[in-house]
Amino acid sequence: MQKKRVFLTRTLHDFALKELRKKYQIEVHSGKIPIPKNILEKKIKNIDGLICFPYDKIDDTMMDMAENLKAISTYSVGFDHVDITHAKKKKIRVGYTPEVLTDATADLAFSLMMDVMRRVTEGDKIIRKGSWRQIYGAYDYVGLDLQGKTLGILGLGRIGSTLAKRAKAFDMKLVYHSRNRVSKTREKALGIKYVSWEKLITQSDVISIHVPHTTQTDKLFDAKIFKKMKKSAVLINTARGKVINEKDLVLALKKNIIAGAGLDVFETEPISNTHPLTKLDNVVLAPHIGSSTKETREEMARLTVKNLNLGILGKKPIYSVGY
Ligand code: NAP
Repeated sequence: MQKKRVFLTRTLHDFALKELRKKYQIEVHSGKIPIPKNILEKKIKNIDGLICFPYDKIDDTMMDMAENLKAISTYSVGFDHVDITHAKKKKIRVGYTPEVLTDATADLAFSLMMDVMRRVTEGDKIIRKGSWRQIYGAYDYVGLDLQGKTLGILGLGRIGSTLAKRAKAFDMKLVYHSRNRVSKTREKALGIKYVSWEKLITQSDVISIHVPHTTQTDKLFDAKIFKKMKKSAVLINTARGKVINEKDLVLALKKNIIAGAGLDVFETEPISNTHPLTKLDNVVLAPHIGSSTKETREEMARLTVKNLNLGILGKKPIYSVGY
C-alpha cells in the first residue's frame, strides 16, 4: 500500500523526521521561511498530513485547495495562523502543543521582566561600547526591585498561572485579568487577585501578556492604554506581537510614557536590526524564543508527530482544537 503523504513547512528534529519516514512519504520545505504562499498552495493539494509552524497561514482558501488533507499538526501552542472554524467544517483534525512549553515560556517572561527591571542587557551594551566610565556610582544604572511590585497578568491560563508561581517566590503582589475569572480555590492557591481590565492597566507595575491573538485581543495595547499605565510601568509580551500596536509602543517608550518593555514577539517577524525598537535602550528584545529550550522543543516535536499520527487516522489528536 502506498504510504500517506506528509508535508512539513520547515524541518524538525532528526528523530522526528526519522519517525515520520517510517510511516509516511515525507517532504520537507527547505527554502524561504515562512514558506511562500504559492509553494504551500501547490504542496497542500495532494497531502494527507501537514506539519506547520506559527506564521504559516493556513486559511480557508488554502484548506480548500487540499483534496485529501486529514490532519494539520502545528508545532506551537498558538493556533491563530490556522482557520479552526474552516478546518472543523472540512473535518480536518488540528493538533497543537500546549502544556509542554508552559514552563519554558513562563521562564522567558520572567527573564525579560528581570532583565528590563535590572537593566542587564542595557549594561551589557554599555560595556561592549566601552562606555562604562566609573564603578559603583550612586545613580548609575539603577533598576527597580521586583519584591513588593504589582505584577498584572493578562490571561491567567497555563503560562500566566506558571508565571504567577515564579513571581510569588520573588514576593511580588499578583493581580490578573482574564476573559473568565478562575475559581476562588485556584486564586487562593496562586495567591492572586482578580481585577477589572481598567485596574490591571492602571495599578500594575509590570504587565505580562498571556492571551492568544484573536479579533478581541488584536492591538489591545495602544496609545490610549499606554497613557493609562503607570509612567514607571514595564510591559512584557511573550504571547503574540499583534496584541500590541507596535508603532504606539515605540512612541510610548521613546517619550517615557511607560518605563520599559521586554518583547519576545512582534507584529511581523523577524524584525530587522533597523526596526525602531532596536534604537531604544529601555526595551529588551528576544527572537521569539519562548519555547526554545532543548528539552521543550524536543517534547514539542514528539507531540507534533503524535498529534499528526492520530489526526491522519481520523482520530482526535492528544491536544486538539476544532473537530
Ligand atoms: P491558555 O492556557 O489558553 O491561556 C490563555 C488565557 O487567555 C486563558 O486564560 C484565556 O481565558 C485568556 N483569554 C483568551 N482571550 C482573552 C481575552 N479576549 N481577554 C482576556 N483573556 C483572554 O494559553 P497558554 O498556553 O497560556 O498560551 C498563551 C499564548 O502564549 C498562546 O496563545 C501563544 O500565542 C503564546 N505563546 C507564545 C510562545 C512564545 O514562543 N513566545 C510560546 C507559547 C505560547 P479562557 O480561560 O476564558 O479561555
